[in-house]
Amino acid sequence: MLSPKPASAFIGVGSNLNDPVTQVRSAIMAMVRASDWKVESQSSLYTSPPMGPVDQPNYVNAVIRLSTKLDCRELLGRLQDIENAHGRVPSDIHWGPRMLDLDILLFGEIEIHSADLTVPHLGILQRSFVVVPLAEIAPDLILPNGITAADMARRLTSGDLQRIDNE
Ligand code: AMP
Repeated sequence: MLSPKPASAFIGVGSNLNDPVTQVRSAIMAMVRASDWKVESQSSLYTSPPMGPVDQPNYVNAVIRLSTKLDCRELLGRLQDIENAHGRVPSDIHWGPRMLDLDILLFGEIEIHSADLTVPHLGILQRSFVVVPLAEIAPDLILPNGITAADMARRLTSGDLQRIDNE
């Protein structure tokens, strides 16, 4: 259902298969072109070693800020369409390799705890590859634990995460 006032949402973008930099850039392009929202800002791309089974390529991640009148579930559905268009297939492997992963990190002030959707996404308090790009585009954003994205990024910064310079 469309709401009268747009919500501000932060989306985590990740890939570690089939030229991940190209996958992430292509997903960002698809999001910029979409008519259901407006992309307000995008972070640099970052690369890091995999968190799950180690026998898989490094990840490339970025964070996008968008404003949308969609509700959170509709947004999830549209993001899954973009994942599917990038050849994502369902996998049973937890933290296994993936062509494209789009996560709703934050959706305004909304909290959802259901089987198919957890918002805010738990990664924003745990993972440098989520928090560091988030802090790049919204350093003063207050996270659910009450501290800013910039402070959280300082706490989670790890030498494993490297920014990829934009050409
Ligand atoms: P994963 O393979 O780990 O990316 O998990 C994909 C599933 O996570 C999707 O089918 C969603 O239903 C579920 N999910 C739960 N919370 C979120 C969220 N905040 N953003 C995106 N997907 C989510």
